[in-house]
Amino acid sequence: ELPHVTDADATAKALSYTADAAKTRNPAHKPGTDCSDCQFYSGAGGKGFGPCQMFPGKAVSAKGWCQAYAAR
Ligand code: SF4
Repeated sequence: ELPHVTDADATAKALSYTADAAKTRNPAHKPGTDCSDCQFYSGAGGKGFGPCQMFPGKAVSAKGWCQAYAAR
């Protein structure tokens, strides 16, 4: 399994990634959206962790979010 991205990761900071979308304070976040419905996410289902094109070699939380979010 790929290592998980943490909020302390440099790219995570640059993109304002958080593993819990419900807790982000970024005004660009639309409530209810998270990695599981982002076009860059390729994990299975709405829970657990999966690959994201923005974080090569790592896995993001299905419940996460960052400002590169783009609806699928
Ligand atoms: Fe999540 Fe999409 Fe950001 Fe990747 S690009 S961390 S899948 S919101």
